[in-house]
Amino acid sequence: MDLCNRSEVKRLLEKYSLAPKKAFGQNFLVNPAIPQMIAESSYELSGAAKYPDKKSAVIEIGPGIGALTCALAKYFDRVVSVEIDRGLLPLLDETMADFDNVEIVNGDIMELDIPTFISEKFGDILDDGGTVSVCANLPYYITSPVIMKLLEAFPVTEKLPYAGITVMIQLEVADRLAAEAGTSEYGAVTASIAMRANVKKMLNVSAGNFHPAPKVASAVIGIVPHGGISEVYPELRDSNISPELLGEKALELISLGFSQRRKTLVNAAASVWGKERMTAALDTADIRVDIRGEKLSPHDFCRLADILLSKD
Ligand code: SAM
Repeated sequence: MDLCNRSEVKRLLEKYSLAPKKAFGQNFLVNPAIPQMIAESSYELSGAAKYPDKKSAVIEIGPGIGALTCALAKYFDRVVSVEIDRGLLPLLDETMADFDNVEIVNGDIMELDIPTFISEKFGDILDDGGTVSVCANLPYYITSPVIMKLLEAFPVTEKLPYAGITVMIQLEVADRLAAEAGTSEYGAVTASIAMRANVKKMLNVSAGNFHPAPKVASAVIGIVPHGGISEVYPELRDSNISPELLGEKALELISLGFSQRRKTLVNAAASVWGKERMTAALDTADIRVDIRGEKLSPHDFCRLADILLSKD
């Protein structure tokens, strides 16, 4: 069965009386080269090939009819795919029948308790030193919320448990998430992700590779967790402030700093820290007092949080 053949996709959907649901962001891949490339990139990103005696697992979000799922099943030892659309389950029973390493879970990724899910489904693999990755052709309507949910499920002070997160998203969002501080694409989500991981753009995918074709172009990005706040802000080890509090306040400053992009950081954060205190903190950090949040790196936000908290 070729799950990326346009007529086969249409035949399968018809057989189960289904049509692509816009409300669930259903745009199915119809070029077999793309799921193959995404699965391969995801496996490479996980680094699992370096440890052949350890097991590798992947969480897929939104298997659809299973095009990416079966490509993942060829690389990873265990694939657990979370699909919101109950209507697709009988179809997936048929298309995944030959794969004994794939499990389909009916659910909404936004409602899942991620740490519990990971320990239930992959506790044995992690305990044995194996890896868990995430890979998805994400529904466009919730791209950033899904990525933030995966990251925020764990404290900013800890290294995230994923070996890598490989996701296909809108090209425009991919450019935003991979942007450097100070560029016009850089935003609150970019800075919040950078507190926990590095992002790299891997592949552009045009709309013609999907059925139905979306209105926008897409791109695949790889998100690789780093050591967390202690890597972003190595000075943390000399600070009296707890990593939890510093992380919390740095993330709050990021959110304030981008809430009104045209405002200076002093004005944007005045409601929480007061104008005078913010001005003094910027001065101590050797940062211009009329700076806007969009010009600051995650390290700058951590340094400012450290200075502000130290003055308490
Ligand atoms: N993986 C398939 C592919 O690449 O052809 C389908 C990708 S399609 C862009 C997005 C998939 O995510 C759909 O199957 C949709 O039903 C599913 N989905 C949408 N929202 C979801 C959610 N909140 N939780 C889990 N799955 C979701």
